[in-house]
Amino acid sequence: MIRFPIYLDNCATTPCDERVVTAMLPYFTDHFGNASSRSHPFGWKAAAAVEEAQQQVADLIGAGADELYFTSGATESCNLALRGVSTAYAGKGNHIITTKTEHKAVLDTCRELEKKGIEITYLDVPDNGQIDPDAVRAAIRPATILIALQWANNETGVVMPVKEIGKIACEHNVLFFSDATQAAGKIPVNVKESKLALMACSSHKLYGPKGVGALYISRRNPRVTITPQITGGGQQKNIRSGTLNVPGIVGFGKACALCAGEMQNEYSRLLKLRNRLEKGLLSLPDTYLNGDAAARLPHVSNLSFDYLSSSQIITALGKDIAVSSGSACTSGSLDPSYVLKAMHQPDHLAKAAIRFCLSRFTTEEEVSYTLQFVKDTITRLRSDSPAWQLRE
Ligand SMILES: *Cc1c(COP(=O)(O)O)cnc(C)c1O
Repeated sequence: MIRFPIYLDNCATTPCDERVVTAMLPYFTDHFGNASSRSHPFGWKAAAAVEEAQQQVADLIGAGADELYFTSGATESCNLALRGVSTAYAGKGNHIITTKTEHKAVLDTCRELEKKGIEITYLDVPDNGQIDPDAVRAAIRPATILIALQWANNETGVVMPVKEIGKIACEHNVLFFSDATQAAGKIPVNVKESKLALMACSSHKLYGPKGVGALYISRRNPRVTITPQITGGGQQKNIRSGTLNVPGIVGFGKACALCAGEMQNEYSRLLKLRNRLEKGLLSLPDTYLNGDAAARLPHVSNLSFDYLSSSQIITALGKDIAVSSGSACTSGSLDPSYVLKAMHQPDHLAKAAIRFCLSRFTTEEEVSYTLQFVKDTITRLRSDSPAWQLRE
């Protein structure tokens, strides 16, 4: 039986896994201690739980547990990485390389840093959305301190050549930061193999609770130091002060452990479901895939339905299927997606985009229903549209 509406907006957020909620519950009540309280068992219990979670997150991304710092989410992690590095490495240089398709957490932070004298290069991407490593190499200057590149794009699911760029960063002695919020837990992510100095991820994108994320900061080859952005009690080796969100952190850890265990099976299951949906929808006329067909997260499909607008489609799907036109952070605006524009999509296609994001909880029945319902809806909307009737 299908529960309506069908949720296919899992790039915006995922539901919290019941197993995650179960792991969290005792930490609200029985084990409520402050992880920094060293003088009694309440504190010790909380601190042990945080340590375990650190290990679980670390295991998912190939890091050491001592290289993980908990934050309120990927937005804060991106801010901490970019602001923290630009201050700490000001003596080395003032130039950061990023791309035009980053999440706003990176782009808007870069805009702020520009006001403080940091020079930012916003690289173009090719039509398929996948940054060219040679473009990154060519942008490196003596003053370059950081390359900031997402692991996978949140609107198209396009996976970036992170390993190649890590190698380039390493050769040029530049730090490499990746916003891996969409990739972590969905595809293999290894910070050491990709020579990352810093990496951001978020709990609520991988079936954990909202309001918690992590920043990986390399302690070995290279040993990275950053300037804290939140000061106070000196928690987390002074890098990020504030009483730790123990239940959230426990949930995040559990969510990472579940992803690590289930990723391989989930990858192939989701890939099959996504491909069936995508192939079916692409059989509609004047319908196009946004982003590289191959180098993509297994559960994401961003399609443009020409002659229609995203908002018109979303409204028509409304009560049955929850999707979005792209980033939840920008879906309030009527402007076409800046990500699709950076991929050189013409306005009429960028404004006709719908992003389908499947999850661990998406069923075959839901995909079958969605395929038929979206096909019927698009056909009906188009038959009512003068633009469609007048097309050549
Ligand atoms: C969701 C998302 C963020 C922001 O994460 P929060 O934890 O919600 O702050 C940053 N980057 C990418 C790529 C995202 O998808």
